[in-house]
Amino acid sequence: MADLIDGKVISKQIKDELKEKVAALKKEGIEICLAVIQVGNDTASTVYVGNKKKACEYVGINSVSYELPEETTEEELISLIDRLNSDSAINGILVQLPLPKHIDEDTVIKRISPDKDVDGFHPESVGRLSIGQRGFVSCTPAGIIELLKRSDIEIEGKECVVIGRSNIVGKPMAMLLLRENATVTVCHSRTKNLKEICKRADILVVAIGKPKMIDASYVKEGAAVIDVGIHRNENNKLCGDVDFDSVSKVAGKITPVPGGVGPMTIAMLMNNCVEAAIMNE
Ligand code: NDP
Repeated sequence: MADLIDGKVISKQIKDELKEKVAALKKEGIEICLAVIQVGNDTASTVYVGNKKKACEYVGINSVSYELPEETTEEELISLIDRLNSDSAINGILVQLPLPKHIDEDTVIKRISPDKDVDGFHPESVGRLSIGQRGFVSCTPAGIIELLKRSDIEIEGKECVVIGRSNIVGKPMAMLLLRENATVTVCHSRTKNLKEICKRADILVVAIGKPKMIDASYVKEGAAVIDVGIHRNENNKLCGDVDFDSVSKVAGKITPVPGGVGPMTIAMLMNNCVEAAIMNE
């Protein structure tokens, strides 16, 4: 049976380390503040925003929230972002996605100052990551690197396969693994021979958005398997993109869902807020 990679324990370690850093910064007179914007009242978004605010409280970061009605126009949202961009008391700006259909997400993301882009979605942040410059990194893939490192899984020189090429998970994940000197293959819906490619992986990161698609037949004996997917099954229980019962019999290490990658995303958001405060000092 594979060893569990415990995202709950590791994310708590990270938040506790950040709590100390934040307390030390406070002593130097540096307060950190995250602005969280939600447009409309999508239930899942409300839960995510609530969890982010709770994490801020735990770590000692101040948060201000803007809960805007569904009918908010793109211009109104942009003008709020402009105000927050020029407010020196605000270190990070987070716009909860998805936005209502009448608002263009790319336009909104581009408007956030790259200095306050704690989600790491701004084209400048993405560019910095790809050319190896310091900048904000998308929280979920950044969290996966921490999970691997803190579970003593060596990345350098390893064969890593990422399934999924989204802008928020798959692509930044591949860039981060490359930065850690892995040999990286990115697979997607048009990939031929997916199974054979996955079977080569020492580290397999699965971000497909298809419940339990990856079973043991895709996994090399002893591999580390990271499951990014989150779904509710027919019994309303959470599950991932990986068939845990099947894969845990062949993998060496595996993340569970829930309690694997999920908690890391918020921990890394907190980390980005602290970085934002330090970078802008
Ligand atoms: P997207 O839907 O944006 O991307 C899915 C990717 O999977 C695409 O690149 C797609 O390929 C690829 N894909 C789809 N079907 C197949 C297939 N049959 N074989 C191979 N590749 C396939 O998803 P996200 O990256 O945003 O999210 C992935 C999962 O992770 C979701 O379940 C999401 O809920 C979860 N998630 C979890 C987070 C967390 O904090 N734990 C954070 C973010 C996401 P193509 O590009 O060709 O269409």
